Amino acid sequence: VTRELSERGLDALLVTNLVNVRYLTGFGGTSGLCVVSEGDRFFMTDFRYTERAEREVAPTGFERVEAGREALEQLAERMGRAGFSRVGFDDAHLTVRQHGRYADKLTGIELVPAAGVVEGLRAVKEEGELAAIRAASALADEVYGLVPERGLAGRTEREVANELEHEMRLRGAEPSFPSIVAGGANGALPHAEPGADVIPRDALVVLDMGCRLDGYCSDCTRTFATGRLSDDASAVYDLVRAAQQAALEAVAPGASAAAVDSVARELITAAGHGERFGHGLGHGVGLEVHEEPRVSQAAEGELEPGNVVTVEPGVYVAGELGVRIEDLVAVTASGHEVISGFTKDLVTVA
Ligand code: ZN
Ligand code: ZN
Repeated sequence: VTRELSERGLDALLVTNLVNVRYLTGFGGTSGLCVVSEGDRFFMTDFRYTERAEREVAPTGFERVEAGREALEQLAERMGRAGFSRVGFDDAHLTVRQHGRYADKLTGIELVPAAGVVEGLRAVKEEGELAAIRAASALADEVYGLVPERGLAGRTEREVANELEHEMRLRGAEPSFPSIVAGGANGALPHAEPGADVIPRDALVVLDMGCRLDGYCSDCTRTFATGRLSDDASAVYDLVRAAQQAALEAVAPGASAAAVDSVARELITAAGHGERFGHGLGHGVGLEVHEEPRVSQAAEGELEPGNVVTVEPGVYVAGELGVRIEDLVAVTASGHEVISGFTKDLVTVA
C-alpha cells in the first residue's frame, strides 16, 4: 500500500470498504475503517467491536482507536496530528453522502479518489489465502458429491438449493453467493434464481455454488443430466467441456486475460454458438466471490502468479437449455493449479 501511495503522491489511504479493511487489518466485524501511511497505520471501530479488534487486529500491528460519538472529529484530529494533507479514499465504495461528511469534517485535508489500490493487492493471493480458498473449494466439492444420492428430477429447484446450502452450513461454511439450481429451459438464464419449478427428467440442470470459509470464497459450476439427453444437448455439453478444458490449459503467468477468454470463445463460436456465450470467461475469487482480475474480452491485464480466477464458459439456448462448467484455478509461477475437484464428466442423476 505504501508503495502505491508514493506513486500516487498521497500521504495516506483512508479505507472504508469492509472487505478491504478486513484484508489489511484482519478485522471481520461490520463497522470500522483504517488508515495506512508510510509511518503510521491505525484502525478505528466503536466500543461494540473493541474486544474483537483486540483479537483480530492487534496481530497485524495496526494501532487501535476506539471511536466515540464524534468519530469523524477524532479521525480529523488523528490525521491532522500525523500531518496528512493528501489522503486517498475508495471512490468506488464511499457514497456521495459519506464523502460529503468526510470532506466536511476533515478540514485541511484533500480527499483524492484512489480506487483499486487494495483491490489490486487482493488480486495476488498469499499462500495462506490460497490455502483458505482450497479449503472452501474442497468443501463445495464434498457438497457436490451429495447431489447424485439426493437426486434432482422431480424436486423443485429451491428445495435442492436450500438443501445444498444447508449441507454447507452443517460443515461450518456458508454460501459465498445465492446458489443457482436451474433445470431445463431455466438453465438458459445464466443467473437464474432457484424457484418453485420442478426439475424435469431427461434434461440438463445447471448448479452453480460456492462456499465461504474463514472469509474466503469458492465458486464452482457443474451441469448434470437427469436422464437421456437429445443429441443436441449432449453436443452442447461436450462443446462447453472442451472449451472449458482448452481455456483452463491456457491459464499461465503472463497470459493475457483477454486471450484466455478467446480460447474458449473461439471454440464455441466455431461450433455456431458464439452468440449464446454472452458473458466473460471468468473472474477473480478471494474475500469476495467476484473480484480482480476479470477474465474477458474487455480485460486489459495479464495473469500473474497468485491470481485465482474462474474459467466458466457457457452456452445458453433460450427456451431450451443451458450448460456452464466452472473451475477455480490458481495461477502459479510455472503454470496453473486447478482447485476445483468435482468431476466434469457428465453425471446423470435420476
Ligand atoms: Zn459460479
Ligand atoms: Zn463464477
